[in-house]
Amino acid sequence: MNKDCLRCKTKMEEAYQVDFPSLIIQRKESGLKGAFAKTSEVNAWVCPNCGYVELNACNPEIFK
Ligand SMILES: [Zn+2]
Repeated sequence: MNKDCLRCKTKMEEAYQVDFPSLIIQRKESGLKGAFAKTSEVNAWVCPNCGYVELNACNPEIFK
């Protein structure tokens, strides 16, 4: 997947999150929490030119 920086249009690089556990998100209205909920990890992208950081849900379809 290629991404261009929204600010300066430089090609962004994918980054790993070094904290543990990594950021997990779920649909707010699902009413479920933890293991029973549909969740998505979050990827981070960094612009090596201006430092802009963008976060993207790995499974955005769970929010439909
Ligand atoms: Zn940039």
